[in-house]
Amino acid sequence: MRARYVEVSKAGAPLEVVTREVPEPAAGEVRVRVEACGVCHSDSLTVAGLLPFITYPRTPGHEIVGRVESVGAGVPQWKPGQRVGVGWYGGHCRRCEPCRRGDLVACQNPLIPGVIYDGGYADYVVAPAEAIAAIPDSLKSVDAAPLLCAGITTFNALRNSGARPPDTVAILGMGGLGHLGVQFAAKMGFNTVAIARGADKEQFAHDLGARHYIDSTTTDVAAALKKLSGARVVLATVTDADAMSAALGGLGYAGEFVIVGVPAKPIQAAVPGMVMQRQSIHGWPSGTAIDSEDTLKFSEITGVLPLTERYPLERAAEAYARMMTGKARFRVVLETGA
Ligand SMILES: [Zn+2]
Ligand SMILES: [Zn+2]
Repeated sequence: MRARYVEVSKAGAPLEVVTREVPEPAAGEVRVRVEACGVCHSDSLTVAGLLPFITYPRTPGHEIVGRVESVGAGVPQWKPGQRVGVGWYGGHCRRCEPCRRGDLVACQNPLIPGVIYDGGYADYVVAPAEAIAAIPDSLKSVDAAPLLCAGITTFNALRNSGARPPDTVAILGMGGLGHLGVQFAAKMGFNTVAIARGADKEQFAHDLGARHYIDSTTTDVAAALKKLSGARVVLATVTDADAMSAALGGLGYAGEFVIVGVPAKPIQAAVPGMVMQRQSIHGWPSGTAIDSEDTLKFSEITGVLPLTERYPLERAAEAYARMMTGKARFRVVLETGA
């Protein structure tokens, strides 16, 4: 059987639609007929060749939703026809220290779809069974896809932080991750602060559930957060190191600066206040397949939904370029028509 794959032939090459033979699932693997796949900024790791261990040609995409089409030997838990998804966590090595301690998403040799094996910019994906998450019937595939990276990352970072309702939680950035982070924080019962560039996003931030809005182009972000008694958590979804540094001073007592966006430059922290008020900075990496299921269930129960711009698979290059402009509102999703 042959099908469409959008591939990068070598680092820095343009995305091209090609037809390739679809692999059979080996033992322990599942073949998924893709319906939708979100376009994430991390796809640039593959497209631009930012990781030395990526082999090419490679098909990007790690916000994958579709239906199980066939399963390899030893996969009793998944059946053809079930609607499922695969996110950034796409399997683990079982050998490294985090794996041996059961912290699978921190695996030091992670099997990331679209990076280590072919991802969701395609008609089919073959993935390890442990990477598969069930999708609730009420969520459309186009809406579920962004929840598998942008969604799970913000949801899981917030629920594993030290913040408890009604603490003040600030979401820095309102792009693909941030517009979901604001909704999750509000639905979790936090005093939610949205921080973004420009006055034009204020009404939208309130529509998503934010009680407060800080326009970082006209306001000292740290001072504005301090005026709200300081944030228990700042969830940094941007990729701009300076924007992160500017928000750090807005932490309150025992505040945590939780980083899920990855800037190229180092961030800067003024340390004295951090020591005296027991503040911390740490990163958060996505989540496993069962965390994806929790994210999807929470979204189903509370009505959290991504705003999407939809493109057919054939226009993947255009969709990717649109995401990279940073102007997409708010998550670009490819659809195969399946
Ligand atoms: Zn992602
Ligand atoms: Zn591992």
